[in-house]
Amino acid sequence: MTKRIFNFSAGPATLPLEVLQHAQAELLNFNDTGMSILEISHRSKAYEEVNAEAEANMKELLGLGDDYRVLFLQGGASLQFSMIPLNFLAPGQTADYILSGAWSEKALKEAKLVGETHVAATTAEENYKRIPSLDEIKLSSNPAYVHITSNNTIFGTQWADFPSFGDIPLMADMSSDMLCRPFDASKFSLIYAGAQKNLGPSGVTVVVIRKSLLENNPKTVPTMLRYDTHAKNDSLYNTPPSFGVYMVNLVLRWIKANGGLAGMEKHNTEKAQLIYDAIDQSGGYYQGHAEKDSRSLMNVTFRLPNEELEKAFAAESTKAGLNGLKGHRSVGGLRASIYNAMPREGCQALRDFMLEFQRKNG
Ligand SMILES: *Cc1c(COP(=O)(O)O)cnc(C)c1O
Repeated sequence: MTKRIFNFSAGPATLPLEVLQHAQAELLNFNDTGMSILEISHRSKAYEEVNAEAEANMKELLGLGDDYRVLFLQGGASLQFSMIPLNFLAPGQTADYILSGAWSEKALKEAKLVGETHVAATTAEENYKRIPSLDEIKLSSNPAYVHITSNNTIFGTQWADFPSFGDIPLMADMSSDMLCRPFDASKFSLIYAGAQKNLGPSGVTVVVIRKSLLENNPKTVPTMLRYDTHAKNDSLYNTPPSFGVYMVNLVLRWIKANGGLAGMEKHNTEKAQLIYDAIDQSGGYYQGHAEKDSRSLMNVTFRLPNEELEKAFAAESTKAGLNGLKGHRSVGGLRASIYNAMPREGCQALRDFMLEFQRKNG
């Protein structure tokens, strides 16, 4: 095997090596079927077991019981931007959005196509360098739901504590930090995540939904865009992204075997600390984009003294086997995406590279 490098890409992103090896080992003959998981019917017993285990593992990791379902859908997190208002924003109602980055803006844009919306808080004017504080949030009088983005992949910010708004359903895009740490999932009526950042390969979107939300989906919403369709059919209404669900299940097993969400938090905190320390101890050579109390465990964004140095950093780090560090154009600079599957050694290698780069060019 050629050497694997450290992949800091924002998504699709690095997957646990053990998961890839497991999938490789059973690729030609899945569970004694004599067929690959890629070739078997989604109506087969072998696939139904994968589908059911994935739902059970997700609920177990989130500590959720019978009042929740886990769905495996297609269309990415981006389709959830539309499905949520289509199913839960009725005429005459208002949906509240807290804007903490570019993905929240996109979610809002789709809701506006469906009904009335209200921006309950935003840090856009500060180029999203922080999460709004609780006292900045001003809800509309009776919102149908409140939507947040738990981790802002592009800006490198993350909610430290989640807000609660009593009986108002709270919905979250957790695409880039789902299962990175323990949290009270029962606060949320709906959580969604495109799998390709922290949960598996692209092509499958995980939706965790409180069952009571499945009761009144308006009958005018097209069948494929209704949550109740997918819940009633255990995510098997039509052909599911079966390989993706299989991979997500392997990732869930890997998380369980590595200490669950508490294990992930410990591992992720130590990893992120290595890089944030390199920033904080650089005497201003490296400048973090996020304010300290809004820093993300998953995406570390930082700038260098000028763009030329940033280009050199990106090019030289790639040569050194640290891939995908070029930042998003709306922040500039560099971004290290260090999801659950990024090993500690990867963060150590980046920290060492940062120290050496500053020594040579600082
Ligand atoms: C990547 C990302 C998305 C977009 O996901 P798709 O699956 O490509 O639609 C949405 N929200 C957040 C927070 C993301 O990081």
